[in-house]
Amino acid sequence: MTESERTDRISRRNLMLRAGAGILAASIAPGLFKTEAANAEALSNITPDAALKKLMEGNRRYIQQKRTFPDQARSRIVEVAQGQHPFATILACSDSRVAPEIIFDQGLGDLFDIRVAGNFLDDGVLGNMEYAALELGVPLLVILGHERCGAVKAALDGKAVPGHISTLVAAIKPAVDATKNRLGDAWDNAVRANVKMNVNKLKSASPLLAEAVKAGKLKVVGGHYDLDSGKVEIIA
Ligand SMILES: [Zn+2]
Repeated sequence: MTESERTDRISRRNLMLRAGAGILAASIAPGLFKTEAANAEALSNITPDAALKKLMEGNRRYIQQKRTFPDQARSRIVEVAQGQHPFATILACSDSRVAPEIIFDQGLGDLFDIRVAGNFLDDGVLGNMEYAALELGVPLLVILGHERCGAVKAALDGKAVPGHISTLVAAIKPAVDATKNRLGDAWDNAVRANVKMNVNKLKSASPLLAEAVKAGKLKVVGGHYDLDSGKVEIIA
């Protein structure tokens, strides 16, 4: 065999190997892409109302101790590694007892979580919300307060607090002021007012989100989580 024949044979073999790999990739890839595209399409097509229904069904499973722990298998890890299509954005308190994926019985890639003690809006939180709604196309936004919130209690007590904790207290203070003379439980009144006021504030604080709501692409609701029962109630 001459040198050129040998080179020719090697390059032909390489070509065949490459072609084989190409055929293999082509036979796997379309299936993968199809599943991915179908999933992305299904998720981006979920309406704001359907997203809220899906979320509340998860909370029902949680309080009835009938959780299904969806979207937590190895296949889901592989699926969401390619991209995320969460169906709800949740602004919840940092409180360790109000973990969104647990209380709504959801899994990986389902919820876009933003957590701040006292679940109030600031520029950073608004940036997160706008990113979720506009870049990821998330159709539902929930501002979730909860029973016996420590951050709200600090604002209610009105005592001096150290360091940056004062930022939290100042942000929640308007809800305390608004409910000062209201009948009932002052703490829970302030928790609920804080949720409602932040839902209302969204409209003026973010023209981009207000526009998405107007176009029917986004629904904004306020929720209240009951620490004793685990139930989420929509209050705004
Ligand atoms: Zn809290």
